[in-house]
Amino acid sequence: MKIVFANSAWVNAVERLILRGGGWHSVRLRVRYGLIFHPTEGAVLIDTGYTPEALTGEGRSRRLRLYGAVLKPELNGAEQVLPMLKRFGLSPDDIRAVIVTHFHADHISGLPLFPKARFIASDAAWARVKSRTPRQNWWHGVFSELFPAGFGDRLDGLSTKRQIEAQGDVPGGADLFGDGSVIAVDLQGHADGQFGLLFVGLERPLLYAVDVQWLLRALTENRTSGFPATLIAEDAAAIEPTSAMLRRFLATGGEVMLCHDPAPTSYDLASAEAG
Ligand SMILES: [Zn+2]
Repeated sequence: MKIVFANSAWVNAVERLILRGGGWHSVRLRVRYGLIFHPTEGAVLIDTGYTPEALTGEGRSRRLRLYGAVLKPELNGAEQVLPMLKRFGLSPDDIRAVIVTHFHADHISGLPLFPKARFIASDAAWARVKSRTPRQNWWHGVFSELFPAGFGDRLDGLSTKRQIEAQGDVPGGADLFGDGSVIAVDLQGHADGQFGLLFVGLERPLLYAVDVQWLLRALTENRTSGFPATLIAEDAAAIEPTSAMLRRFLATGGEVMLCHDPAPTSYDLASAEAG
């Protein structure tokens, strides 16, 4: 199964805010999203990255405009989701499923581009989004105006999936396609309902751990940032136990990849094409 990641945008962050004991210089973070070519499901997206809808859309709330003005993401035109699909000869209608790891803007802003897709996401977290006011959602880092109309009707919830047991330090989770190829692993801490994706059928098992940390070093060197980063976490106390679980997975020989880490990986588009 081919797995490719692309970088939708760059975001600058002061290292100290995302790495305990880090410097005051700024780090240029990626905003990844992925594409998997599944033998029976076809092309499946993993999130959408930032798209212009989150940054320039007319229907944006005042809060979403403020968020864009503070983070100032620079969109990476060449690796936006539509041009990226085109490189693989795909149109938006070819995408029948988008895995939505959590509901932050840089993961969902392109969902309206895929009218034929079902959305594989946490139905429990979606129920909570629906029960909250837009303002309450904003406190959870969710801009409800970014969800396409009918999101709930097209939701393929994790709770309906078969659970796969952990194997020692290799975590278990929800078997997304019923064949064990992609397992949704619960990653508590960063956002309500966030899950990562475990691919066990590779030479080296890969766990895409999304936003557990911004930097891989924060994970591998045990340097979770404290205040004020903890302010924006859904459950700050859960970040460390989740990170420890990922370190145990690394110790088994697994590979962990994050959404925002700046270093290129063998799954990123440029290297994926070269390879
Ligand atoms: Zn996030």
